[in-house]
Amino acid sequence: MDSRTVGILGGGQLGRMIVEAASRLNVKTVILDAPNSPAKQINALTEHVDGSFANPEDIEKIAAKCDVLTVEIEHVDVPTLQKLQKNYPKLEIYPAPETILLIQDKYLQKEHLIKNEIAVAESVAIPNPSEESLTEVGSKFGYPYMLKSRTLAYDGRGNFVVKSKDAIPEALETLKNRPLYAEKWAPFAKELAVMIVRSTSGRVYSYPTVETIHQENICHLCYAPARVPDSVQLKAKLLAENAIKSFPGCGIFGVEMFYLENGELLINEIAPRPHNSGHFTIDACVTSQFEAHVRAILGLPLPTNFSSLSTSNTNAIMLNVLGDKTAKDKELETCERALQTPGASVYLYGKESRPQRKMGHINVIGSSMQQCEQKLRYITGETNKGSG
Ligand code: ATP
Ligand code: MG
Ligand code: MG
Repeated sequence: MDSRTVGILGGGQLGRMIVEAASRLNVKTVILDAPNSPAKQINALTEHVDGSFANPEDIEKIAAKCDVLTVEIEHVDVPTLQKLQKNYPKLEIYPAPETILLIQDKYLQKEHLIKNEIAVAESVAIPNPSEESLTEVGSKFGYPYMLKSRTLAYDGRGNFVVKSKDAIPEALETLKNRPLYAEKWAPFAKELAVMIVRSTSGRVYSYPTVETIHQENICHLCYAPARVPDSVQLKAKLLAENAIKSFPGCGIFGVEMFYLENGELLINEIAPRPHNSGHFTIDACVTSQFEAHVRAILGLPLPTNFSSLSTSNTNAIMLNVLGDKTAKDKELETCERALQTPGASVYLYGKESRPQRKMGHINVIGSSMQQCEQKLRYITGETNKGSG
């Protein structure tokens, strides 16, 4: 579909699934990451770059091998991307380096969203972390509040729940040497997420609003569509679309939000890349989030009515497969039960099993959410019978 080569900064599971989607369209991809990373395993090429997406020289090496550069992770070295953009105007970089810069620092991201009148959890920067400054935050926000690293956060690594004034020394110790900000506690009834695709012309398309359930800060389950009233689904979609309209450049974005007990919706954070809450799209939608990203960054057609591509009567639950805490590879038992279950698909990422590591995911499709839940109970080992 396109003779240009796409370079991907990062070769984890998201990169691997971008590679899969691109190869279906005969689009060539090259990866920058450690040798044998998940995306390289399924893409036999000698041109991949071994190295790091945080290292300027490695980024320059891969840039020389591609026409379009994209990311599967936001923690990349943006100054190098900006330099490349200036020196090689023909190289296209999506998402825009400016967008990655705004998003990779969670506090800058918040300031940007507030400037664009998007609702977010109230936050305050902590330039000089100390017992005094964190006590001051406690007086302002009350307890608990969330202390967060502004950068390099994932799966809650970088967050600390400050439950009381007594917890402040531990919070400082846990997040020492990291740039910090604090966030008011969001008393959410549910966490929602919306995947948004932005085209080269700046048009935004949204996938259905989903509901995510986290365990120990890691996404555990994702229900698509979210089990909330239609009006809330629509409000979430509009909030996500408006948020993404404020960022330059194109590609796929994941928008995480809190649905508060009082009915309010607040954005938690945005990811400028495919997202865990969009994995259901591989089986529940005609065009997956990964294919949508490839099409968007190459300027390939996106359908005029994007929502018609996500069949609205499909229900899906995505279960993340995490490395078992008790025995190596034990999580494969869950995958085996999924293989026995009609309507379930297993995706493994080619990683070595470690406790709580994201090893893969399972998509369960059904004609009703009750049916998906029944299948899920079998897969997780709660019941003995499949749904037939
Ligand atoms: P990831 O990038 O993997 O989604 P992260 O490390 O960037 O995670 P966050 O998304 O900021 O972390 O937070 C992880 C989880 O912690 C959220 O999904 C939510 O469950 C909880 N959380 C975060 N901020 C707040 C808040 N202000 N109030 C209440 N809960 C919160
Ligand atoms: Mg995050
Ligand atoms: Mg998050």
